[in-house]
Amino acid sequence: MDPLDVMMSKEHVIPYYQPIFSADKQLVVGYEVLGRLHTEEGDKSLDWFFQDKNIPDEYRLELDDHIQKLALDEYMQTDQSAILFFNYDASLLIRDNGETFIKRLESYQSKGLNLGHIVLELKEEDVADYFYENKHFFYYIQSFGFRLALDDVGHNGSNLDLIAMLKPNIIKVDVAFMEDEEFPHLYSDVHQSLSMLSRKIGATLLFEGISTFNQLNYSWRNGGRYYQGSYLRSPHRFFVESDCCRKKMQKEFQHFIVYERKKMESQFTLTNELTTQLKQTMKTISPDDTFDEMIRKVATDCDRYAFRIYVCDAEGFQQSSNAEKSQDNKWVLIEEGRFKNWSWRPYFLENIVRMNIEKRGFLSDLYTDIERDERIRTYSYPITDNLFLFLDIPYNYLFEQEGLL
Ligand code: CA
Repeated sequence: MDPLDVMMSKEHVIPYYQPIFSADKQLVVGYEVLGRLHTEEGDKSLDWFFQDKNIPDEYRLELDDHIQKLALDEYMQTDQSAILFFNYDASLLIRDNGETFIKRLESYQSKGLNLGHIVLELKEEDVADYFYENKHFFYYIQSFGFRLALDDVGHNGSNLDLIAMLKPNIIKVDVAFMEDEEFPHLYSDVHQSLSMLSRKIGATLLFEGISTFNQLNYSWRNGGRYYQGSYLRSPHRFFVESDCCRKKMQKEFQHFIVYERKKMESQFTLTNELTTQLKQTMKTISPDDTFDEMIRKVATDCDRYAFRIYVCDAEGFQQSSNAEKSQDNKWVLIEEGRFKNWSWRPYFLENIVRMNIEKRGFLSDLYTDIERDERIRTYSYPITDNLFLFLDIPYNYLFEQEGLL
């Protein structure tokens, strides 16, 4: 369809609303406003129209204006407890210093519109193009009282520094591009760091494009508070009942929780197994044994769990060599690791303090071992108040047991 045809049929362009649900209440918290063209063959999406930057700015501005007015008119007739999300092209917004958008909102504000319930969605990619030249503009538009959402975050790799500086209220991540079956853990790692950053800057993480059970599960596991997608509700011409997905979400959450609990239980079981084993092994170690003799004995006793074992003091200085399992499954001592310092590692000190206080061993999260380039976990165990044993568990072992990956 030609852009000009769309403009000629402007009176048939109507807003659609896609509900956005919150995890905490399982209710609709708001709607993204989308443009549709009403035709005899049904209502057609106009997403392409707003995404095509070759279409003259005037057309897109005019149509945006038209849809936003209709949506606000319809919204004003509701109880206005929901939030309305409006997409906007960052370059169009900058072009007139945000005036068209702000003026429109202000005209409704005088009729009682609460600006705190309006969200302006800007694509991360566009904002990244303009932010550094227009920092003040982006701070300025955040002073009017409506909220700012960064849309399509992570689509082309995300700009964590941009997000940290802009401090949007909402961060939207599209999960639609992921394969249904299995998510490469890579995405999860990126989204985990997004989730951490959101928490630090007080932003809400919203996952959109959710069209499957797995994608909803993924969103839940990765710290998403808001969810949007056809698995819950497709865009609709009208607003919906706020509890329309409540039962479904509650049921799905129950599945997620059962599954995650099983995983945690497996991790606790392994932790207990290793603790029992190490207590046993420590009894066989005499005070005259060197640290290297100690890890040799641990290696023999924990052979099926480990591929690397070493001992550090409370300041992170390695006291033993590395006991490492060679290709042919024999343990060798590698002296080179001795007296290296590991206190700079994430979680290291926290871990030491925890072990000291709770007097028990811990299993780490999954992370990639630099040398082996595979995902592993580390089990750490307090030998004394000043001496700690670290035992790296290979991917193979974690893979064979249920719930450890
Ligand atoms: Ca959007």
